Amino acid sequence: PSRSIVNFSAGPSALPYEVLEIVQRELVSFAETGLSVMELSHRSATFSKIIHNAETLVRELLKVPENYSVLFLQGGGNGQFASVALNLINLKPKKSADYVITGYWSDRAAIEARKYGTVNTVLPKTDKYESIPPLEEWNLDPEASYVYICDNETINGVEFHEDITRALNGVPLVADCSSNLFSRPIDVSKYGLIFAGAQKNFGPAGVTLVIVRNDLIGHAMTECPTIFDYKIQAGNNSLFQTPPTFGIYVCGLVFEWLKKHGGMEQIGKVNQMKADLVYEAIDNSKGFYNSPVVAKDRSRMTIPFRICVDGKPNDALEKEFLAEADKKNNLKELKGHRSVGGIRAAIFNAISLEEIETLVFFMKDFQQRHQ
Ligand code: PMP
Repeated sequence: PSRSIVNFSAGPSALPYEVLEIVQRELVSFAETGLSVMELSHRSATFSKIIHNAETLVRELLKVPENYSVLFLQGGGNGQFASVALNLINLKPKKSADYVITGYWSDRAAIEARKYGTVNTVLPKTDKYESIPPLEEWNLDPEASYVYICDNETINGVEFHEDITRALNGVPLVADCSSNLFSRPIDVSKYGLIFAGAQKNFGPAGVTLVIVRNDLIGHAMTECPTIFDYKIQAGNNSLFQTPPTFGIYVCGLVFEWLKKHGGMEQIGKVNQMKADLVYEAIDNSKGFYNSPVVAKDRSRMTIPFRICVDGKPNDALEKEFLAEADKKNNLKELKGHRSVGGIRAAIFNAISLEEIETLVFFMKDFQQRHQ
């Protein structure tokens, strides 16, 4: 199954068409209950099965070790910016955390954490996020409660590809994987906590997945709102308050789809091929297309680029590119984030290799007509 529109939105993003069709089929009556999932009590046996199945698939797909809890929460990435600090900043007496700021979203997280404790910025301040400085240059504090990274900076297109835990001296690593969780295999045991909003790679907006090592649970500040306390949520199997039931159901279907399509190894390979095609088109364009990010730190998921004339970004040509992409080619939502401008291709799991070929064909054709 497919459709003629390709949706490159960075979030909420494309969902697998097969999943949307299942949702449509089951919308008014789920599993012969005569009720929509939206109408089921979160305490019903049917919903218990749905959330249990979703959790089991997360554990299976990501090979989550036994000593980690899988939580389906609300509040999105921004909610976790606060939750992480509220739950973990007290882990060490210094109440200080190390923030590795590699783009817009890790910067936002650090600003939020400062409300609850001390934030040590590990890297020199910059407003150009185009690479990750080598580990040897990081100003890490061995007394930090945790080290925080954004694994894929959705706006700036900077992604971690290296195992950084060797430099952390056992300080727990917290990663915002909102725009790359389920895009490739991940060794969960290297992390203290991983969180992600579902709306990019694995579900609709409204569900926030948290995978947290059990020894990091139970250290929340007294001021931590009850719904944000990992201990309360883990103790209640994510059912402390009414959870986003419909969203969790859709996430479960996406997890089934990921499994059906070969699991993380295979999905990771396809995602790498997709990203390679786009970067090849950029790098072989003789400077017409320009990616600001150094090759080793380039994102496989969110690819910002500029269209240049005489080495300078050209707003008029970018406008034309976007209009032609949208109106004539059904390639939607390619506009870059307002803070950086230009073009951005967010190529999450639901975008197929064939759809990337269509984009690359258009890019080459547009270049030929305008260079
Ligand atoms: N982190 C990352 C990496 C993101 O891309 C986003 C949203 N685009 C957020 C956090 C914020 O998430 P939310 O809008 O769910 O609060």
